[in-house]
Amino acid sequence: MPLWFIRGLRRGVVTTRYPARPEPSAASLPTPPAFRAERLNADLADRLGRVCPSRALRREEDVLIFDVGACTACGRCREAAPEAVTASGEFELAATARARLVKRIPLPREARP
Ligand code: SF4
Repeated sequence: MPLWFIRGLRRGVVTTRYPARPEPSAASLPTPPAFRAERLNADLADRLGRVCPSRALRREEDVLIFDVGACTACGRCREAAPEAVTASGEFELAATARARLVKRIPLPREARP
């Protein structure tokens, strides 16, 4: 249990100093994936699209489309392909436009269909 929670119960303060100060407990939060593009190929991109329950991943021709706004950070893609997918560690994902949350990850040239 995070210390800030216990401290808050004692003092009656229920919020942390975030975002003025980094929140250490954020390190244990699940975060969206990051991709090692050089390890992707068309088959793997298709497989990632199939395991993603929120349809945040799909392949379009020679590009893996990653909709960060749809990702729930469930980790299924990382479990399916640990050689190509890692946790990003990034949880501050606010954007001023929805389209900025959609990432296009080019597949390596030799891996294209
Ligand atoms: S973490 Fe889950 S929701 Fe996000 S892209 Fe991977 S499989 Fe999809």
